Amino acid sequence: MEFFFTLKTAENKARRGELATANGFIQTPAFMPVGTAATVKAIKMSDVKKSGTEIILGNVYHLMLRPTAELIERLGGLHKFCGWDGPILTDSGGFQVMSLSQIRKISNEGVEFSSHIDGSKHFLTPEKSVQIQHKLGSDIAMIFDECVQFPTTDEKAKNAMERSLLWAQRSKNAFIKRDGYGIFGIVQGSTFYNLREISAKKLIEIGFDGYAIGGLACGEGQKTMFEVLDYSCDFLPQNKPRYLMGVGKPSDIVGAVARGIDMFDCVIPTRSGRTGQAFTHNGAINIRNAKFARDEKPLDEKCTCHACKNHSRAYLHHLVKSSEILGSMLMSEHNIFYYQDLMGEIRKAIEEKNFTNFAREFVVE
Ligand SMILES: [Zn+2]
Repeated sequence: MEFFFTLKTAENKARRGELATANGFIQTPAFMPVGTAATVKAIKMSDVKKSGTEIILGNVYHLMLRPTAELIERLGGLHKFCGWDGPILTDSGGFQVMSLSQIRKISNEGVEFSSHIDGSKHFLTPEKSVQIQHKLGSDIAMIFDECVQFPTTDEKAKNAMERSLLWAQRSKNAFIKRDGYGIFGIVQGSTFYNLREISAKKLIEIGFDGYAIGGLACGEGQKTMFEVLDYSCDFLPQNKPRYLMGVGKPSDIVGAVARGIDMFDCVIPTRSGRTGQAFTHNGAINIRNAKFARDEKPLDEKCTCHACKNHSRAYLHHLVKSSEILGSMLMSEHNIFYYQDLMGEIRKAIEEKNFTNFAREFVVE
């Protein structure tokens, strides 16, 4: 199957599309649960599938350190290894080497870092990152890029953006084109209009199968993030998918779709699930709260997940308060169902040209 994005319909800037990949179709706007270490934490892949999830995300950084890309390749690739037969997107490791590891040296050649697991030394380059993603068998590979912290100076953001462009070209050169597999560029430039514009233009000249917006959701706040998206999406071609990396809360997603984003990934639903926070159609709740101790209602009456069909808030309150593993599992699964329900509602609203109303009335944080 050819790697191909079809824009089916749009309402103002909000887009309803379909992405074809080697391992299946993805309806957009889409949410990708994060499967950092070849697992969407605390949820079986069969339940991830039941939630309506069509694509999951894996991480070069984590998988190269443990169990290693070579071992996963020998065992038949990441899809087979983790038991997920749908599309997989892998992050290049650029963000994680900066945020998780101890950086020893960063140069135009690549990044030398120490593993956060055992302190062992590694060297990651654009070429190596793309080769690892090839070994894993990712449907969508990401270029290796340099992220900067927020806030940053114009000069630091410019240097990182320019290095990321060098690495983008080298990532593209190293990418082995196969039917159904694609590679996305990542627009950088922090919150600076002119840097975002240059980054997008140069990436489009190199030519990618899709374009991600990186370096947001780094503490700049929703208002600033939306301002950056307001202009950044206009720099990108209509006929390629757009992916906002690491975002976000339900209201971030609705606002970003309104600004032209097609794909999202975030640890919020699973991480929140493990700490007792549940997203519902009536807002987020913390199940640890004493008021749920005798509450016989399900987490969310509109939800079809296992927890909502079979258990009360009182039971989930008890499990989470008792630190029972099942509490993390049920809460995480529910949150992924909530996110996928939300994406379904967003897609339907765009199809019915009702998204502007939907977004205006959307109140869940
Ligand atoms: Zn549920």
